[in-house]
Order: sequence, then C-alpha cells, then structure tokens
Amino acid sequence: MIQHRFQRAFHSLSILLSLQISNQAVTEALSPKSNNKIMTGAVQKSIKEICRKPRAHWVGDAFNVFPVFADKAFTSELSPFLMFDYAAPKSFPADSSSKRRGVGDHPHRGFETVTIAFQGEVEHADSKGNKGVIGAGDVQWMTAAKGIVHNEYHSPEFAKKGGVFEMCQLWVNLPKDKKMVEPRYQPILDADVPKANLLKVAKDTKKCSVAPLDDGYVRVIAGQYNDTKGPAMTYSPVNLWDIILSNKNQGYEFEIEAGHTLLVFVRRGGVLVQGEALKLADVAIMNQDGTTLTLEASEDDTSVLILSGEPINEPIAARGPFVMNTQEELKQAWMDFQYRQNGF
Ligand code: MN
Repeated sequence: MIQHRFQRAFHSLSILLSLQISNQAVTEALSPKSNNKIMTGAVQKSIKEICRKPRAHWVGDAFNVFPVFADKAFTSELSPFLMFDYAAPKSFPADSSSKRRGVGDHPHRGFETVTIAFQGEVEHADSKGNKGVIGAGDVQWMTAAKGIVHNEYHSPEFAKKGGVFEMCQLWVNLPKDKKMVEPRYQPILDADVPKANLLKVAKDTKKCSVAPLDDGYVRVIAGQYNDTKGPAMTYSPVNLWDIILSNKNQGYEFEIEAGHTLLVFVRRGGVLVQGEALKLADVAIMNQDGTTLTLEASEDDTSVLILSGEPINEPIAARGPFVMNTQEELKQAWMDFQYRQNGF
C-alpha cells in the first residue's frame, strides 16, 4: 500500500516535470533567444550589436547621408526596416539660381519611405498628384506599394535662403499581401505629432515617475508610447518615436513589445544603453526579448530615434528602388516601370 502511494506520487511528479519541460520547450520554440524572460514582466532589453557611424555619402547633390544600417540594410535581421539614411546638420549657401538640389523623378514599389525633416525643408511631388513641402518636425509617410514615381528636392524657398539642413529617410517594408495595394501619401505636420512626457527612473529606488516636459519628451510619430498614439497609419505594427532628452545623467524608461525588432539611433548628443555609449549616427540593435528599455543621455540636449516593429518573416528581394519578395517580381517591377504599366 505504502509502496503503491509512493509510486502514484512519483508518477504525478514525473507528469508534472514532463509538463514543465514541454512548456519550456514551447516557450523556447516560440522565442529561441528568450531564456523565458518574456513572461516575467519588466525585463530589460539587452544589446545584440552596435553599428557605429558609417562613412557618409551623397544622395543627389542635396542629401549628405550616413547609411546607418550599412551592410545590414535589406536583411531580415532588421525587418520590417529596410534602410535608413541620416543627413546630419549641414550648411548650404543661399542659391538664387533656378537649379534644384535633390533627386529627380524615380520610381518605387513594394515598400514605404518615411522622411522626417529636422531642419530646412524637403519638397516632394509624385505621379499620384501629391505635392508638398515638409519643414522642421514634419513627416512624410509615403506608401509606394504597387508603384509611384516621385522627386525629392530642397524646397525652392530653403534653397534661395540657404541654411542648415537635417533630415532622415527610413524605408519600411510592406507585407507580401500589401506590396501591390494602392499608393498612399500621409503628410504629417509637426503640430499633428503628439508630445508625451518621459518616464524618469529614480536613482535610488529605481521607481518610475512622469517627468515634466522640461526633461524632454517623446514625439510619437507612429505606434504607441504608453497611452499616446501616433498619427501615422502603418501596414504592420511599427513604433517610430522622436525623443529629446534634455538632461544628461538621468535614466528614462520605455516600454516596448517583446518580439519586435528594436533599434536605438542617436541623432544628436550621446546616450548610454545598458552601459554602452552611443554617439552621433550610431545605432544599437536590441535583442527581441524583454519589454523595458532604459536610456540615459551622456550629453545635455540629446536626441534619439526609437524604431521598433514586428518582423515581417518573408523573403526580401531588393534592387535599387524596388523591394519585393522574389527576383521574378523585381524583373516585373523594372518592366512595369519601363512600360509605365501596372501602377506606373
Ligand atoms: Mn525616393
């Protein structure tokens, strides 16, 4: 009898153990890099890799850019983000000639271009009849999708006056079933982008509290930061936050979904991420597990962009201005553009 009970207890224990093991196996299978930390709440995001400021190059004669993703551009590692060019502040002389600085008519298909102007003005005109100038703080979220032809220039007014120019352009991939939807153009003005308070981390207790706007703020362009939603419509979950950290040596906390690709980019000043120092045009690629990111500026008036998005787990075929899933579709895109058909 005693032996029987012992056997039953042992049997239950082994069922329990095997259940635990299979649960763990399921968690690991869903998230191979996770160490089961996703379930426990406020786990800090860790750094996967830091890409240091690359060498700058010119796009047309208007945009002197750091190709921030360097050789990781167009790889699945950064999905849904494809490419990121940052034009650091640069002074352009006043130019009263009629010559335009920028990039003339060129096509895109299969993804979105997101342009943020920080200083100076960018003018855009496209084959769908959209035309507009964006200035400091404004954003153009252009969905090329099945096809668009556009040009990108310094605005005539900015060219005439001259001055400091600073902008960035991010390319966001589209899921396969959205690559051939109708193009869309979202001009988002600075005034339409909500500014949310930072969450300050107390040095001693590590508790978070809402910081005053004097500490800086988060401009939520896309996605959601705490309770604040951004105005940009996206085809897959994407967060794009433009952050100012006014004071150095103070930590701020950000909640970001586990499972997202997460990039921290320094636009001005410097920032500490998990004890690592990032400077101008450096980018930290974070691991996907954990839900909390802590940033601490190493210089006053630091500016950081946070890019996060759900990876699109589909093949990437990219060539020049087209980003599709297969080589066949790329050939078709060139053909369609050449014959001005199927969307061009
Ligand atoms: Mn373009």
